Amino acid sequence: MRLLHLDSLAVHEWPDLSTTESHILPIYATSSFDFEDIRQAVDIFGGQATGHTYSRYGNPTVEATAAKIAALESYGSDLKPGAVMTNSGMSAIHVLLTALLRPGDAILTQANLYGGTTELLRLMARQAGIDVIYANLADPHDVETALAGDGRTRLIYLETPANPTLACVDIAALTEVARRRDIPTAIDNTFATPYLQQPLLLGVDYVIHSTTKYLNGHGNAIAGVVIGRDPERFRATIWNTMKLTGANCSPFDAWLTYQGMKTLPLRMERHSSNALHIARVLDEHKKVRHVNYPGLEGHAAHPVACKQMRAFGGMLSVEVEGGIEGALRVINALQFCSLAPTLGDVDTLVLHPATSSHVNVDRDIRIAAEITDGLIRVSVGIEHPDDILDDLLQAIG
Ligand SMILES: *Cc1c(COP(=O)(O)O)cnc(C)c1O
Repeated sequence: MRLLHLDSLAVHEWPDLSTTESHILPIYATSSFDFEDIRQAVDIFGGQATGHTYSRYGNPTVEATAAKIAALESYGSDLKPGAVMTNSGMSAIHVLLTALLRPGDAILTQANLYGGTTELLRLMARQAGIDVIYANLADPHDVETALAGDGRTRLIYLETPANPTLACVDIAALTEVARRRDIPTAIDNTFATPYLQQPLLLGVDYVIHSTTKYLNGHGNAIAGVVIGRDPERFRATIWNTMKLTGANCSPFDAWLTYQGMKTLPLRMERHSSNALHIARVLDEHKKVRHVNYPGLEGHAAHPVACKQMRAFGGMLSVEVEGGIEGALRVINALQFCSLAPTLGDVDTLVLHPATSSHVNVDRDIRIAAEITDGLIRVSVGIEHPDDILDDLLQAIG
């Protein structure tokens, strides 16, 4: 080939000079992928061959991260689930719901969901004609009654442990009821992570995560994932919806998540042991009305949590005296813990649900779900437990 002009040389890609494999997953910061010839392009687009084409459809960095999460969720089973990463936990939930539900369908769920999920369901009820039915998913009889009363239910959606009360649902008992009626189930497994709880092994069909939280662990990326038990059905529904709605995760955010996940088991062990210690001490405190932590023997969810979780996780909530005023006074007095509206990071984070995460949830729905005015949510970090505890104790006074 004749010598290119300098202008063209500057524009074109330089050949890949790597001689040995990169030890760490590279970030594929590319929107598209080259075809070797037009035959390959025709075969890939026609579905006769697999290959990367365009990063909204799939990207090696993003796919490696999704596949790793799917492998963790299905560990110890023969399942080969499908998985896609999305650009947030909310988009994972949105992709799941829009892929599986049609106008006129109903979804059965619980009142005590992540605040954003409750709001999204309300929006979809208004705009997409989805009927949202609430039941106490922890009570199989309540679920049976709700299903018997409405034949349009096409999905049961649960969250356990739930935000921020840590209420738990018996996953195996619920999926048994759903199976009998041939209704798929989906779970938000953000709080537990696959290290503490594996819903696919308990019969759940779809798992979603806000990977922003524990899977990443370091608070430096927003992303989500949807995992589905049946990989073929998954591609036709969930992957297709992800691709068409452009809910794809950026390779950089996927890469940060991928790196964070390497320490997931170590972090979850420490989050859990720190939280259990702190919950036990606060539970005895005379100015604390109530501690929600599934690891406490007195917590209503303790037997169910023992059945389906390896340990009890890093989330707890504490009800202090004095309602909203009392809670804000305690939070303001904190010096070591950070006041930030996320969870699952390595450092301890505190939030007041009534005025932040659940501010757009109707007060009566919120109170009915036991998200009281004086409730403070603590995402217990992996610091030394005494530093966290000392700060909480001095703030409570
Ligand atoms: C944060 C969170 C979400 C939403 O995820 P984003 O990544 O913020 O979009 C959904 N469910 C739970 C339980 C969460 O904590």
